[in-house]
Amino acid sequence: MNTNRSPADFLPRTRAQMRALGWDELDVLIVTGDGYVDHPSFGHAVIGRYLESKGYRVGILDCPETEPEGEGWKRLPPPRLFVGVTAGTIDSMVTNYTASKKKRSIDVYRPGGAMGRPNRATIAYTALARHHFPGLPVVVGGLEAGPRRLAYFDYWEEKLRRSMLVDAKADLLVWGMGERAVLEVAQRLERGESLTGMRGTCEIVKPADVPEGARVVPSFEELQADQDKLIELFHAVREENAPSSRVLAQTHGARVVLQHPPLAPASQAEVDSFYDLPFQRASHPDHDAAGGIAALEPVRWSINTHRGCMADCSFCSITFHQGRTIQSRSEESVLKEAAALTASHDFRGTITDIGGPTANMWGLGCKLLEKGEPCLGRDCLTPDPCPALRLDKTSEGYRRLLGLVRGTKGVKHAFVSSGIRYDMLRGRDGKLLPLHHDLVAHHVPGRMKLAPEHGSDATLAAMNKPRFEVYEQYEAEYKEECRTAGKDQHLVNYFIVGHPGTSLEDAILLFEKLLERNYSPEQVQEFIPLPMTRACVQFVTGKDPMTFAELHVPRGERERRMQKALVRWKAPESRVLVEEALERAGRPDLLARFQRALTSQRRRERDDESSDLDTCG
Ligand code: SF4
Repeated sequence: MNTNRSPADFLPRTRAQMRALGWDELDVLIVTGDGYVDHPSFGHAVIGRYLESKGYRVGILDCPETEPEGEGWKRLPPPRLFVGVTAGTIDSMVTNYTASKKKRSIDVYRPGGAMGRPNRATIAYTALARHHFPGLPVVVGGLEAGPRRLAYFDYWEEKLRRSMLVDAKADLLVWGMGERAVLEVAQRLERGESLTGMRGTCEIVKPADVPEGARVVPSFEELQADQDKLIELFHAVREENAPSSRVLAQTHGARVVLQHPPLAPASQAEVDSFYDLPFQRASHPDHDAAGGIAALEPVRWSINTHRGCMADCSFCSITFHQGRTIQSRSEESVLKEAAALTASHDFRGTITDIGGPTANMWGLGCKLLEKGEPCLGRDCLTPDPCPALRLDKTSEGYRRLLGLVRGTKGVKHAFVSSGIRYDMLRGRDGKLLPLHHDLVAHHVPGRMKLAPEHGSDATLAAMNKPRFEVYEQYEAEYKEECRTAGKDQHLVNYFIVGHPGTSLEDAILLFEKLLERNYSPEQVQEFIPLPMTRACVQFVTGKDPMTFAELHVPRGERERRMQKALVRWKAPESRVLVEEALERAGRPDLLARFQRALTSQRRRERDDESSDLDTCG
């Protein structure tokens, strides 16, 4: 370990590149299903660069073959300490299949978009790592393994599966944002210590070694026999999610998976240290011949300002991965990155995003928790923002940050493309905050993206999102502000179809809202139940684990397609399904309105086409 070593331009992915750096061995090898992108939005780069900054020599074995004797596994030598395995930036089943379980043809996280990542890549790569590097500890982590740290419902196979730690037969599973835990793994192994009992990890022990005071959760076998026990597991994971929490113990046959409590939230100095690393903001040059990594482009000139989310939307697993506490970078660190972007030879003056999981949560905190007082026992944002949130102060801080980035020499545009919580753009007096004015005036890249997610309040309640009228009020004021400012900036909405709690009537309610606006988004998100989430429990049990209310769960392919068609109602292929849905719901009034709207739409399209021909002539 040598902390005086200069950082590599790129971490090596071959023995020749190691030699060029003067390295005769590796300390840590990171295996990932993605192509290597040296950018802070890619976990393998952040972990690799962080370990490098602490003096470790790290190699990246990206996109390895799945054949046991694949030559690619010999690209790098066995490391001195351990092999870290991640499926990639997102989970391998989502990169390989659509929500309707159809095989995808492009993997945007791999060179040239070529497919080839194995299903449940964490399991496949761990087996290959064991084969090629026998005797070395294998540590798994990332967005595939983390939320599958305990027994979980697998949407793709529609059955309960064991913890991914058990199925992968790895030595340790790191959950959550892994920099500090992975560093501790390296330090312990360096000192010849065991990896047992580490915060932010899961390990497998014998029943006799379960620590006293551990909270026992339903075993894999009990969950298999009674899926309603997922509700109990959901509450245990949710409640034991703080540094002071208890260890969770889940039996799988003759073994027990222990989930140790998380580390304390990273301090501002620590978060800065993760992002101040010498990233090249490029895919590894070895991938240039294949056309690079497409997933880099949308984020290449973006700045990540924080981690964590206080929103707790039912369908989202960010809280279970990044945590509920917002861990923000300092102004100085963000501005340093903005200045570094402007120094890049191919930067054209536009920072595409200054945000995080929810952009306007940078610096957000709770007055009570910060004083060590108990939570009010409600939700932070639903049905409305909790009075303990430091909303006004946070909003001013974020506004100031955006202004400073905007004023950085060499920056022409500083946009916010991450999701914005519109219910957090109002002060306690109900008026829109000055941040909103600045967003509209300076930071909307032509279209403002908002995620009301649905138009039915019943569905929104199941999603733990604000009522639709909150969106409608904001929408009206946004349009007025754009009109006053002379800005032609449309709203782009994101909706989810097929979410538990969406009946045909709910889907038609959303359709009516869209018809009123003559709006039909091109993209619609189809619901996938992500492990550990409230919506996953809703999907499996048909009950909301928070309220115990029974919910309708759209399960059949035709019902989901119908819900999608009602949102994408202008698409020609949607017509039959929309008509079927309206007939089934007994809504001839809406059927007539739909047909009139389609006729007007077709007429407009014909007029546009003929005016194009006139122009050509
Ligand atoms: S007091 Fe309010 S803002 Fe603070 S954690 Fe509880 S619900 Fe969230």
